Amino acid sequence: MKQMKDYEFWFVVGSQYLYGPEVLATVEKRGREMCAKWNAGGKLPCRIVFKTIVKTSEEATNAVKDANHDPNCAGIVTWCHTFSPSKMWLNGLRLLQKPWCHLATQYNRHIPDRGIDMDFMNLNQAAHGDREHGFIGARLRKSRKVIAGYWEDRDVIDRLGSWMRVAVAVDFSRNLKVMRFADNMPNVAVTEGDKVLAQEVLGWQVNTWPVGGLAAEVAKVTDAEVDALMKEYRKLYTFNTKNIKSVRYQAKEEIAMKKMLDREGCKAFSDHFGDLYGLEQLPGLAAQRLMAQGYGFGGEGDWKVAALQSVVKAMTEGQKGGTAFMEDYTYELEKGKEYSLGAHMLEVDPSVASGRPRIEVHPLGIGGKADPARLVFEGRAGKAIVLSLIDMGGRLRLICQDVEAVKPIYRMPNLPVARVMWKAMPNVKTGVECWITAGGAHHTVLTYDATAEQMRDFARIMDIEFVHITKDSTPEKLEHELFLNDLAWKLR
Ligand code: MN
Repeated sequence: MKQMKDYEFWFVVGSQYLYGPEVLATVEKRGREMCAKWNAGGKLPCRIVFKTIVKTSEEATNAVKDANHDPNCAGIVTWCHTFSPSKMWLNGLRLLQKPWCHLATQYNRHIPDRGIDMDFMNLNQAAHGDREHGFIGARLRKSRKVIAGYWEDRDVIDRLGSWMRVAVAVDFSRNLKVMRFADNMPNVAVTEGDKVLAQEVLGWQVNTWPVGGLAAEVAKVTDAEVDALMKEYRKLYTFNTKNIKSVRYQAKEEIAMKKMLDREGCKAFSDHFGDLYGLEQLPGLAAQRLMAQGYGFGGEGDWKVAALQSVVKAMTEGQKGGTAFMEDYTYELEKGKEYSLGAHMLEVDPSVASGRPRIEVHPLGIGGKADPARLVFEGRAGKAIVLSLIDMGGRLRLICQDVEAVKPIYRMPNLPVARVMWKAMPNVKTGVECWITAGGAHHTVLTYDATAEQMRDFARIMDIEFVHITKDSTPEKLEHELFLNDLAWKLR
């Protein structure tokens, strides 16, 4: 599986022959200089490669075709240094299959008061050229990210970098394989979905493996393999249990599942407590550990949340905030101090832990299996978003809500699982009303790293509906937005 650093982006600069060879030479020199500075600055997650100056229709078409075919090219960044007539770009852009960012910038920051003449204006007319370029994007209804600002400014570079992360996640998504053990929990609606649609739209290949196959793989794990992993557990976690047998069994499950996932090239998986045929415990610690290693996970057969988690983890590779599979469980409803308490029956990702997690073993009231080991911890405080992907019947809706996570206000010493507490925007009451109106699931992806802007970019590239619940949301505005979205999607 490729990593962030393995990808590159192509810088394609628009111009034309009208201004003569000297202008074109200057445009190329500057394009190369900009890429060199961006790469040397080290703030972009991927390399940006100067590709070409587009002066003809053939050049635009060839650049796009090459980008489509190059597996390391995650997207193109275009900019028009001079005016670049867009009918030249039309044939090429129509063929574009990779994410596209239109960077509306300018080589010079200032207008040289005494230096400006007609030659200067002809060379430095991005304000003019980028508008022509913007029109053809709009006319073609082509999905693209528009970023405006001075190319050396930190906020512009940061936004370009954030978008690059999204484009990498798009490539990850289009190649993602998901391993399901068992089917969905019976009768649950929101975790269901059209797997053919998910593959068509998002690229996810979702298939099921028999739980008995996992049990056979667990049986093959050696004591030496378990001993080695137990050493790692002791290094990373505090043992708050004497039931070492249970912990060792989870280690076996972790090793067996990782082998199966890697053998099949899967980066996400789901299981179901109700179908553990041949297994002694529901994977708890094992699932938590795999999530911490970058695999997506969904409980109760929820392959959508598993896949989405792995996509967000790919998007946020190397960032430190954490991205977890989460479930809304219960509320604190003291007026003015309302919070949601999120957890799961076992499987909360330790990438969001504040402090050192404890390994504990407790009975699990459902599933009828042995007491499973799990990591218990408190989630960290900070700004985050929660995400839910739902199947609306023939189309997908991605719901994103801004939240503020806090240190849990109670100790909850008898709660045997990891927990995260947060306040939904704009406040718990209205936030819950909006979430429920939009149809958001109880299972979510909670991320401290990915931003709502990135998720909007992802949805735009993948051509799925995006609903963002913010500090400014009201149930009335949201209801109206959902109504219009529904109409728009019916017309497509
Ligand atoms: Mn659940």
